[in-house]
Amino acid sequence: MALEDFRKEARRLDRADPLKEYRRLFFTPPGTVYLDGNSLGLLSRDARASLGKVLGSWKTLAVRGWLEADPPWFHLAERLGARCAALVGADPDEVVLSGTTTVNIHALVNTFYRPSGARTKIVADELDFPTDIYALKSALRLRGLDPAEHLVLVRSRDGRTLDERDIVRAFDDTTALVFLPSVLYRSGQLLDMELLAREARARGIPIGFDCSHSAGAVSHELDRWGVDFAVWCGYKYLNGGPGATAFLYVNRRHFGAEPALAGWFGSVKDRQFDMSLDFEPAPDAGRWQISSPSILNAAPLIGSLALFENAGMAAVREKSLKMTRFLMDLVDGPLAAEPYGFTIATPREDARRGGHVALVHPEALRIAEALRARKVIPDFRPPDIIRVAPVAFYNTYAELWELGRHLREIVDGREFERFETARKAIS
Ligand SMILES: *Cc1c(COP(=O)(O)O)cnc(C)c1O
Repeated sequence: MALEDFRKEARRLDRADPLKEYRRLFFTPPGTVYLDGNSLGLLSRDARASLGKVLGSWKTLAVRGWLEADPPWFHLAERLGARCAALVGADPDEVVLSGTTTVNIHALVNTFYRPSGARTKIVADELDFPTDIYALKSALRLRGLDPAEHLVLVRSRDGRTLDERDIVRAFDDTTALVFLPSVLYRSGQLLDMELLAREARARGIPIGFDCSHSAGAVSHELDRWGVDFAVWCGYKYLNGGPGATAFLYVNRRHFGAEPALAGWFGSVKDRQFDMSLDFEPAPDAGRWQISSPSILNAAPLIGSLALFENAGMAAVREKSLKMTRFLMDLVDGPLAAEPYGFTIATPREDARRGGHVALVHPEALRIAEALRARKVIPDFRPPDIIRVAPVAFYNTYAELWELGRHLREIVDGREFERFETARKAIS
């Protein structure tokens, strides 16, 4: 199919889109085609309204807002956790809003990593998001163990994806913990979490996932898969705003475990203000909270999660898959041939694809800059990847076609040559 044919197809798909009404609920930066929702999701009217409401209760109630605001701030972490649980296939008391992703990784990895005897190793992978690896290495060092020896990073065969069989081969009787991403942040590969959890559990190894790149884009069944713990952030597909408060999940069979990084907000709620020096942890995932929840950073999620509740995660995933499929077809056809030369690093099978598509091109850095100059916003990840996230709530197929047109023009006119080859602080 030629690029022009994709335009007609895009129009048809947009007209038939069951989620098309959601787009007008979001603020898109004026004049832009925004395709970076996997890095920072857009503001919705609902999120702005819920943030405004929290500001209003701070203004009028001040400290009384902890109990008298609607919803009360004191219970907000549990309430939002319960709502988010529905998106990941968990019970309401297994998810809580807390801190930030990296802090939650520290809190849970240090809880579940219990080296003993020959079981000392943590299995992760070499394509992991850096902060996850930093946290794992520091957990090892805290116990006086050398990461070079005790952190096993499963290798990728093609530099972009992982083979689950290679991961499972790394599970053995020296493994104390497995911690993996749900979706690889560069290629967009969705790992088979069900299989990995089954294989880890069959060997008695606790397994956790960083779902930052899948929460709000992919359907999860954390309980059914038997995952031990998980973390994810609030600001990517969940549209909670920059640095939004994050979430953590702990499977209920671990509700009795001692939190490694205890803090007073992990207390049983009705006795927290007894101010006892003996920590009495909450009976559920709430015990892994540490500090006062960042209410202002959580407030947009009150509104944002309502959109997921209305639309249903299944519909969001279905559209996301359809959009990424459309984009891959568009690139494979008119943009793969010379002189364009774009290829795709993302797996083709629906079951192995997260919410974004990774376009590979030797000039990816400068092409991403040229796109931005044309007000098309993807992002760049070294060495050669342009990530494009068509978000079910606010992107259209027509925008993906627009992206294709811009890519064609940028290469036709060698427009990217006008840009620097040095990367900016945030790309
Ligand atoms: C976005 C992301 C994070 C972010 O961590 P913060 O602590 O919120 O900065 C962590 N891990 C993964 C896999 C991510 O995609």
